[in-house]
Amino acid sequence: MAAIFAAGRGRRVLVLERTRDGGRKILVSGGGRCNILPSVAEPSRFVTDSSPNTLRKILTSWPLEEQRRFFEVEAGIPLALEAETGKLFPASNSARQVRDQLLALARRRGAEIRFEALASDLQPPAAPGDPWHIRLASGEEIAAASVIVATGGLSMPGTGSDGRGIDILRRLGQTIHETYPALTPLTLEPPRYTSLAGISRTVTLRAPGPKRTFSTRGGFLFTHRGYSGPAVLDVSHLAVRSRLAGGPPQSLRVQWTEMDAAAWNRLLRETPGTAFGLLRRHLPDRLAEALLADAGVEAGRPLPQLRREERLRLVEALADHPLPWTGDEGYPKAEVTGGGVALSEIDPRTMESRLHPGLFLCGEILDAFGPIGGHNFLWAWATGRAAGLGACAAEKISI
Ligand SMILES: Cc1cc2nc3c(=O)[nH]c(=O)nc-3n(C[C@H](O)[C@H](O)[C@H](O)COP(=O)(O)OP(=O)(O)OC[C@H]3O[C@@H](n4cnc5c(N)ncnc54)[C@H](O)[C@@H]3O)c2cc1C
Repeated sequence: MAAIFAAGRGRRVLVLERTRDGGRKILVSGGGRCNILPSVAEPSRFVTDSSPNTLRKILTSWPLEEQRRFFEVEAGIPLALEAETGKLFPASNSARQVRDQLLALARRRGAEIRFEALASDLQPPAAPGDPWHIRLASGEEIAAASVIVATGGLSMPGTGSDGRGIDILRRLGQTIHETYPALTPLTLEPPRYTSLAGISRTVTLRAPGPKRTFSTRGGFLFTHRGYSGPAVLDVSHLAVRSRLAGGPPQSLRVQWTEMDAAAWNRLLRETPGTAFGLLRRHLPDRLAEALLADAGVEAGRPLPQLRREERLRLVEALADHPLPWTGDEGYPKAEVTGGGVALSEIDPRTMESRLHPGLFLCGEILDAFGPIGGHNFLWAWATGRAAGLGACAAEKISI
């Protein structure tokens, strides 16, 4: 996106991409369909250790409506809304179309793209007016008036982003807020719910914190190693960070149905028949059995005979179930990286480093990520465009 906008303003642009074809995270995104944007931008759901105001300023610099128009009109990618999730996908449902048409647009606007070009270091200008030097792993050096670093974070390193860009920026003196895997599945060792693997539900997942309770509603999937699905991914950064901090593990509580504790309490008191008979009307059999076991209530127990403590344990298992977890799947399965370059060291209008004139940053390398639902591409597109335009506005020097 940075190359598209910089080349669109007539600058000579050279894209250096280490892989054979680039945009590999686009290819694997949204299950191969690429959830290109959300239908509603929600800056308040983003996570950063920098200023949320700066984040909001950057994120809203390219309004969602204009982004949609860009993809549909300029990139020639008609979009379709998935009504039940509020996510926007290419109407073709093809992530490859998104990747290929963005590359094609960059080329049409005059950008040159070099694949299998691994940048290994950056040398700032020796004196004002001098160029930057980009050193490639091959030993080649390239001079440039300005440099845009868009090397991503550390998530899913097989797609090309292994943190090398972050190391280069650290060497240049940029402050890096501690990085951690975010939007990553959680694990439980030893496993307790392997018989539930494959069961998926829409749940409400809560993570009580000292100041407020983080709450999200969405898909939940039992895996062989633990849990995944949008709700789990959205809350995973809190679990990961509690593990890294070495303190008590973040408590996670699941409400398995739309009914809250009060509604379940009422239903359990008023319904005749057995506990299992009632639960299986609202939950898959295997999950109903597991929750009854967790609550210590026999499946065949007649509900009118439940003791108060039994009923309250069952209400908790159904509407406020403490979800046991011991770890996470880390960067190999993380959709994004938490932490990254401090936003305070970036001019939010141009994405230029406040430490190094002529150096621009965009995308996942920055200290910000959003929830599942197209928000992370929204961030990547908005910051990429701003960096591309910012680099054009910077002082031109001849090389
Ligand atoms: C499985 C998965 C599914 C996802 N699905 C979605 C989704 O549906 N919707 C959504 O909004 N977000 C999704 N995301 C998140 C989204 O893909 C990222 O937020 C986004 O790709 C970040 O863009 P970026 O350009 O900053 O980094 P990246 O996409 O990681 O791109 C960085 C590029 O830089 C290259 N590179 C790295 N280092 C160097 C170097 N030293 N020299 C040269 N080249 C280098 C890499 O090869 C790569 O091509 C998903 C992520 C994953 C892993």
